[in-house]
Amino acid sequence: METRIGFGYDSHVFKAGVPLRIGGLALDHPEGLAGHSDGDVLLHAITDALLGAIAAGDIGTFFPPGDPRWKDADSAVFLNLAMEVLQRAGYRIVNVDTTLILAAPKIAPLSSEMRARVADLLSLGTDQVSIKAKTPEGLNLDHVAQCHAIVLIERVIEPEELKSMSAVIESQRQLEDVVEDLISSVHGIPKKRGGLVYDTEDIT
Ligand code: MG
Repeated sequence: METRIGFGYDSHVFKAGVPLRIGGLALDHPEGLAGHSDGDVLLHAITDALLGAIAAGDIGTFFPPGDPRWKDADSAVFLNLAMEVLQRAGYRIVNVDTTLILAAPKIAPLSSEMRARVADLLSLGTDQVSIKAKTPEGLNLDHVAQCHAIVLIERVIEPEELKSMSAVIESQRQLEDVVEDLISSVHGIPKKRGGLVYDTEDIT
């Protein structure tokens, strides 16, 4: 079984008056993480790890920070896209391990709820998701939250199988075309393909 690893890192600065979201949870804290999206440093690091595992670029490749569509976006959207890209490439996640680095709030009392939420977002069991947290000792970065994430993935669909799956979809389309041609020639029913069929006499 082919396995691959991916690594992701992100950081955001704390800012007053912004809601704090980490790991898909709203946390009670006087400051949140500034960012174009909701600033969820943990979900961003995992998203980059997933994309990195299949060498598919990073979060900015798919969601440029200047794009107004992603202003204040729920970062679960980014994670969902990375999962879809991963699945379409024929892989599934084996496990995810993360380390948050931030001075406050304390993550330990929230870590089981956070793990459950992240596992839910990734469609994994909680035993496949690890969330650890440290304070930035000696780094002089109390105003910043950082996160490192690493993911192991394994191939579940072989490349040949992926090719034949897309070939099946294409041949199904061709088959539908043939069937519609036949129906149309036998019963005189116009083909559905090619947009709407109007009776030109009725268009006034
Ligand atoms: Mg980020």
